[in-house]
Amino acid sequence: MVSGTHRPSYIHISTQAIVNNYLKIKGQLPKGTQVHAVIKANAYGHGALPVAKALCEADVDGFCVAISDEALELRANDISRPILILGVTPVEDAPLLAQKQVSVTVSSLHYLKEAYNRLGDSPTHPLNVHLKVDTGMGRIGLRHAEDLQPLVNFIASHPSAFKLEGIFTHFATADNLSNWETDVFESQAHRFQNIVTALDFSQLPNQPVCHYSNSAMCLWHPEMTLDWARLGIAMYGLNTTNDAMALPYDLEPALSLTSTIIYVKKLSAHETISYGATYTTSQEEWIATLPIGYADGCPRQLTGYTVLVDGHECPIVGRVCMDQLMIRLPKYYPEGTPVTFIGRSKDKVNRVEDMAKHCDTIPHEITCGFSNRLPLYYY
Ligand code: PLP
Repeated sequence: MVSGTHRPSYIHISTQAIVNNYLKIKGQLPKGTQVHAVIKANAYGHGALPVAKALCEADVDGFCVAISDEALELRANDISRPILILGVTPVEDAPLLAQKQVSVTVSSLHYLKEAYNRLGDSPTHPLNVHLKVDTGMGRIGLRHAEDLQPLVNFIASHPSAFKLEGIFTHFATADNLSNWETDVFESQAHRFQNIVTALDFSQLPNQPVCHYSNSAMCLWHPEMTLDWARLGIAMYGLNTTNDAMALPYDLEPALSLTSTIIYVKKLSAHETISYGATYTTSQEEWIATLPIGYADGCPRQLTGYTVLVDGHECPIVGRVCMDQLMIRLPKYYPEGTPVTFIGRSKDKVNRVEDMAKHCDTIPHEITCGFSNRLPLYYY
């Protein structure tokens, strides 16, 4: 999809806000903790390369991404910091990822054997491996120490092909709100500690690092952080709980989304608006059309959400179309007037969390959902 640079709908990103949040959160963690910035999915929609470059200038410890292509894009753009791919990578990529010194997540002995067949005993660099432990997400990862030990042994017996850099798990409920979620969270933490304690790393030339903290852990359980943290959503200044839990300290939201009135008309009472004619004017109403729609990542659930025009809350009326949507104005505003979806307008602020709550989702889905038709501008 082309970027709509000739259309007045756009996203602004403050990389300084991301850097400030990274440093502030890191400052709350135990001394010596490495914080690896999670910039998968185009840095949660904020733009992987500009975010990575800004963080490198702030001496970031490393990055986490989800897929090989995201790691290779960083390397192709001279990002030389450590990179860990959190998802499963095709074993065919092992030699390339070893050469690029990108660390991979491994959850099976089969992968290591297949990777060894491709790497041989003298790759330029050994493949850096992080073993994944499934303590309760039910996603990738092995569940028991006895299932993990053969992988540790295989790596120990092929030291020029592999380096066991780390071992990690991921929480399902680190933003623990209910007793049930707290129980799951605590049981995952115990399980991980028990598994790591039970594993014998003595045949390895190095001790692997351990990590399990995501944003929620960094914010609400900083004292539990292990060697590394993997910091995502909070680094972008967003509350992973959608305000269900107050942030322990202020963060700076990095993203704002603005559109513009491109057409405005006064409709008389009893006129309908948009597909399905689901909205009917109840009196004479000023209706403005904005050049943004669900193809840009403004979901149809946004109907009824209030955007800001000159500090006024203006509801989205009728269904959101693919490329356009309509809002009700309190009075006439001319074409060219800016409309704030996310950000400040006079004394009012719309946040990603507000949009997420309206759509019954999480902030991650909102920012990841913005399509590349919306240009990203940095300041
Ligand atoms: N670690 C893993 C394995 C993840 O999948 C994610 C995000 O989905 C993160 C860390 C970062 O989580 P958050 O954005 O909540 O900080």
